[in-house]
Amino acid sequence: MKTICDWKDCKEAGSYKAPVEKDNSKKFRLLCLEHIKVFNKNWNYFENMNDQEIEFFIKSDLTWHKSTKNFGSSENFFNILWNNSLDDKLNIFKSSNFKEFKKSKISQTDRDALEVMELNDKAKWHEIQSKFKSLVKKYHPDKNQGNKKFEDKLKKITLAYSQLKKTLGKK
Ligand SMILES: [Zn+2]
Repeated sequence: MKTICDWKDCKEAGSYKAPVEKDNSKKFRLLCLEHIKVFNKNWNYFENMNDQEIEFFIKSDLTWHKSTKNFGSSENFFNILWNNSLDDKLNIFKSSNFKEFKKSKISQTDRDALEVMELNDKAKWHEIQSKFKSLVKKYHPDKNQGNKKFEDKLKKITLAYSQLKKTLGKK
């Protein structure tokens, strides 16, 4: 006996799981292909998710190309979403801010460079530029009686800046 799609008045077979709540509960309802697409489109997966939860998603991205059935053991919220997207190429992430979040992830090299410049990961290019200017002023040998310590610091900052220019300064 086949399960019928849970969508109002739909008589198709319900083969796709749609999570009911955004926690890790195992609650879901079964929908047909047409209605799971509607469901996925209307669902903002990352709404109300904290960074840690999104991080979890991104780490799970490593399993993207692997067989999906054995990803995770329980049918929690995340697994259901993965299986939906992997089974049927429904592109559930296309319209979400998932891609934006991924794009904003920076490399370890850039992270280190930002740290040298006393900036955080989210610094924008124009912020980096103005920070660079103020650091140059601060550590310039002319201002520090040729103090070797500051000279080295300035060299490091300049290297960090040129690194960031390569990756973040393109736009
Ligand atoms: Zn349906």
